Amino acid sequence: MKAEDLLRRYLEQRREMGETELVLDGLSVEEVMKLVGIKRGKGAPLERARPIVREAEGASAAGEPASAGWRDALRVSGAAPQPPRAEPIRSDDLPAARPARSAPFAEQVAAEPELPAPAAPLAPAPPGLVVGSAEMERVPPDIAAAVDLDQLAELIRRCTRCDLYKTAINAVPGEGSPHADFMCVGEAPGAQEDATGRPFYGQAGQLLTKILQAVNLSREEVFILNVLKHRPPGNRNPLPDEVSACRPYLVRQVHLVAPKVILALGTFAAQSLLETKLSIGKLRGSVHRYHGIPVIVTYHPAALLRNPAWKRPTWEDVQLARRILDSASA
Ligand code: SF4
Repeated sequence: MKAEDLLRRYLEQRREMGETELVLDGLSVEEVMKLVGIKRGKGAPLERARPIVREAEGASAAGEPASAGWRDALRVSGAAPQPPRAEPIRSDDLPAARPARSAPFAEQVAAEPELPAPAAPLAPAPPGLVVGSAEMERVPPDIAAAVDLDQLAELIRRCTRCDLYKTAINAVPGEGSPHADFMCVGEAPGAQEDATGRPFYGQAGQLLTKILQAVNLSREEVFILNVLKHRPPGNRNPLPDEVSACRPYLVRQVHLVAPKVILALGTFAAQSLLETKLSIGKLRGSVHRYHGIPVIVTYHPAALLRNPAWKRPTWEDVQLARRILDSASA
């Protein structure tokens, strides 16, 4: 495939996912510089750029995301901004994340470039968006009357509040510990979830399990659910009316489980939870609030399977969520 087509396809994919950051790992530096019209002028002589390109390639092989090399190379050419200075810390001081319990995956984290441990301790995150209150709101009486998750799941299985139940095989209410301190919220069931009635089943689910294990959490002790409980046909994007119709179940689930932290997985889950159109790039790294509960935003595991360069930021996000959990449990 021509470099131009590859770049166009990549950018379209990023735009669809609401992204504004640029990560390029399938093109050479020369190809990208040519495409974006960068010439090696007086300010960035070839002799100066070369070592940085080699450095970036070497770092990539050792686990650095390819984007770091691109940013360095483009920065030297004046095409990329200098990295922003760290913002002053505005949130509460959070303890360091607990060490990983899963030895095999801990070794994997240390050895693999996919989920490397950050080189330096993570800084506390600034506060973000606030949605809802600690009170239950926008919940119809029948949903508010569900006294536990089982009753709520029964209501979900019989739900006709939107048309998605007509085309889905199974409802996917969610699963995990009813008293979980850690909650993972995804977008909507896919084909495998629809077939099994279980959230985050399949390859993306396995990756989520590994990510959780890396911060000392098992699937059984967290609660995993989606914004939508029935699969949109053909995995199309959920419609705003469907999200609104299904929201009371989500609010009630959050209220019943009362987790100490919520991890929003992917653009859609984050935007739906936080009622915003901001991109995931802007939502990451802050501590938002959903009905009083801290929300950390990260990439969807399915997106990580397509874009391994996002595993490092995801790892940092999950560690932040873990530190908030530890802080709340202390
Ligand atoms: S997606 Fe939600 S609102 Fe729509 S039918 Fe299923 S449970 Fe009801």
